[in-house]
Amino acid sequence: MARTALVTGGNRGIGFEVCRRLAGAGLAVLLGSRDAGRGDEASARLREEGLDVRAERIDVGDAASVAGCADRLAAAGIAVDVLVNNAAVYPTRGVLDLDDATLEETFAVNLLGPWRTCRAFVPGMVARGHGRVVNVSSGDGSVADGIPGPGAYAVSKAALNALTRKLAATVRGDVKVNAACPGWVRTEMGGGAAPRSPARGADTIAWLATLPVDGPTGGFFRDRAPIPW
Ligand code: NAP
Repeated sequence: MARTALVTGGNRGIGFEVCRRLAGAGLAVLLGSRDAGRGDEASARLREEGLDVRAERIDVGDAASVAGCADRLAAAGIAVDVLVNNAAVYPTRGVLDLDDATLEETFAVNLLGPWRTCRAFVPGMVARGHGRVVNVSSGDGSVADGIPGPGAYAVSKAALNALTRKLAATVRGDVKVNAACPGWVRTEMGGGAAPRSPARGADTIAWLATLPVDGPTGGFFRDRAPIPW
């Protein structure tokens, strides 16, 4: 039976391309979207390409929405074998200019969301002895590089990297947890001047999501190569 992947924020940008890549590799893909209509539209586009993709409503900034998604999948007997925490927001204001609402939303979506999806789906992976988690991070959150991105975004990605290492050290069996930086990609977040296509941005993420049993865990990768935390 095909393994199942859940990709958050799969309705556009890099997440959409990750859905296409994983379905093309033979996985059954749950295209996560916080908006049901956008999710249905995006998944229908991929089904037109002959891919096994269906929409799943999940707002990662909302604990009840994450729990609701987990409950629906459990009730349907669907196990998530591959979790791609891709959804994120990108406020551009500096550390000292952020209002509370922006600060809270950024951490809710970029950090607590992935944490909650991991809490919902990783125990099942550990119990079954197999799983792949990819946290889509950014060089903007690299401590080694000086956390160069805008305030809340950069710190949220640094924290997501910390969660990645912590979780990788916690799980057992063939469960791999890695972080990926897609590079600067032409999406709504990256803007039109970015040099990379969404497909190129999706490549390392899809690679980590389908690692063989002897693949790496607890690492941070760009272009399929390790980069400093
Ligand atoms: P994007 O085009 O802005 O797409 C963001 C996606 O996240 C959309 O599907 C959006 O859904 C979803 N999202 C936002 N808040 C959400 C929430 N509360 N719940 C569920 N989904 C939510 O961004 P992207 O460029 O594809 O970025 C994808 C990932 O790559 C992010 O983690 C980003 O930090 C990372 N990244 C991107 C770049 C780049 O240059 N683009 C560089 C480094 C890292 P809606 O359509 O509903 O808004």
